[in-house]
Amino acid sequence: MSKLDELETHLSPLPRMALAAVPTPIEAMPRLTEAVGGPSLLVKRDDMTGFATGGNKARQLEYSMGAAIAAGADMLLVTGAVQSNYMRTAAAAAAKLGMACHLQFENRVPGMDAGYHSNGNVLLDRLYGATTSTFPVGEDEAAADASIAVIAEEHRAKGRTPYLLTLSADTKPLGALGYMRCAAEILDQIAGGEPAFDAIVVPSGSAATHVGILLGLRLLGSDLPVHGICVRRDAAAQTDRVKSISRLAETLIGCGRVVEDDQVICHDDWLGPGYGRGTESTFEAIALAGRLEGMIVDPVYTAKSLAGTIGLSRAGVFTKGQRVLWLHTGGLPAVFAYGDKMIGHD
Ligand SMILES: *Cc1c(COP(=O)(O)O)cnc(C)c1O
Repeated sequence: MSKLDELETHLSPLPRMALAAVPTPIEAMPRLTEAVGGPSLLVKRDDMTGFATGGNKARQLEYSMGAAIAAGADMLLVTGAVQSNYMRTAAAAAAKLGMACHLQFENRVPGMDAGYHSNGNVLLDRLYGATTSTFPVGEDEAAADASIAVIAEEHRAKGRTPYLLTLSADTKPLGALGYMRCAAEILDQIAGGEPAFDAIVVPSGSAATHVGILLGLRLLGSDLPVHGICVRRDAAAQTDRVKSISRLAETLIGCGRVVEDDQVICHDDWLGPGYGRGTESTFEAIALAGRLEGMIVDPVYTAKSLAGTIGLSRAGVFTKGQRVLWLHTGGLPAVFAYGDKMIGHD
């Protein structure tokens, strides 16, 4: 039985809408490996999940959209950062289902130019037909959720059946289920001939990806270390978040306690000044990915998780002879919104 079939015995009661083009390939990064000089670096190409230009949100939204359909929703309401890949993918999924979609833009990144507010994901949101509004308070997840709840109430009063997509730590972790499938997929790729890995590196933001990979691997009997690279909070706060969302996910699928506290690893050395704001290592990762591997990484997420992969290799946490798998989670459209800011001090 494949690991994905084994996982299905836990997930099959939950409704799902297939969105992602899977399995995504695992590829070597020989030129980056040589430049870094430590372990063999490989990439799981989840930037190639296809739907709505790809990325990790295609997998994450499969169970959320399944739940929205099951709830009889005719409208999707989503809150997130202005250049949110989640909102862009949700807007596309809503369009595909004939649902209306409203997006609330949280102004989390100060001092950005007109391109940030109109290009990249924002342009795609409009092409997918979503309506938008702005939430001015930068980093207040609870207030943003309260504000979108008010918008939901207004639409209910007009006879709509809205479905809310929020990413707070206490939200039902449906997105993580999509990444449990990715964990199964990686184990099936290993069973199919891909040599085993010594570690996997993932970005850790809402933590849906991190929790899904970690819980999926452990549930399916793999003890592969999972390193989360912080993209929004410091390591202490993110570690708490990954633990608490793991508990929620274990409860959701009824598997009992699977993830142990000491298996939750978060690093914040590559976070820089904060969410969406780059630092030296961010710009270096962007340059290395582009020039050595012909691969684009975005400044908010994937450049930081790649910088973490490179940094942990240089620091000797990963060593020569080991094989390290970095999860590329997409984010391409944001590149066009950040423009020259991608290049840093180059
Ligand atoms: C959302 C996002 C992440 C972060 O994933 P979480 O599951 O929210 O932790 C990483 N990379 C990209 C490109 C994203 O869009």
